[in-house]
Amino acid sequence: VIVPVITVDGPSGAGKGTLCQALAKAFGWHLLDSGAIYRVLALAALHHHVDITSEDALVPLAANLDVRFIPNENGLSVILEGEDVSTEIRTETVGNTASQAATFPRVREALLRRQRAFRTAPGLIADGRDMGTIVFPDAQVKIFLEASAEERARRRMLQLQEKGFNVNFERLLSEIKERDYRDRNRAVAPLVAAKDALILDSTSLSIDEVIEKSLTYAKKNL
Ligand code: C5P
Repeated sequence: VIVPVITVDGPSGAGKGTLCQALAKAFGWHLLDSGAIYRVLALAALHHHVDITSEDALVPLAANLDVRFIPNENGLSVILEGEDVSTEIRTETVGNTASQAATFPRVREALLRRQRAFRTAPGLIADGRDMGTIVFPDAQVKIFLEASAEERARRRMLQLQEKGFNVNFERLLSEIKERDYRDRNRAVAPLVAAKDALILDSTSLSIDEVIEKSLTYAKKNL
């Protein structure tokens, strides 16, 4: 039996997280937040003083990463080495470190099997950059969610403010652009829409409209 997968890829801050939680709830499926795996790897490297610029140093860390995801009412709790790091991994520093670590082919390779293991019945919603292109190329439904960099920076700012982080819009915007550039231009698994993905631009859509359009598309194509 083939377990169904819906992939949601796109740049940072496009609304993938919220969309994926809504889809997971609507279908009653599992949720893979692949970005959280890269973020946990980055945090582990920072904690253990592993050189983030060294692929050789990062590969064993990625292969042995002690990370668990526990579903909760608003998504997933992320546990690194027994410690809840759900909040700690959301900082821009960790995000940027994650995107640097994510440029290394052997690091990505080391995390591949771990990500594919999330594909269990009754189905999976996979959130990331390369879910539809590399990790689950045979996914039944692929969505590529975009939004302008300015809109994504504005949303990220509100999100971080809600969580009590102090943020500067211009800095956030330049960090988003920097991360976009790195994610789109890296040699392996660059951020790009799969040929068979539905491209959704959420710049002028509300999150409810994004969810509605995605649900309709997914139900029609599953
Ligand atoms: O999605 P999120 O912002 O949490 O991801 C953090 C970083 O991890 C991204 O900027 C990207 O470089 C990397 N990533 C990736 N492949 C994925 C998910 C995330 O390279 N599937």
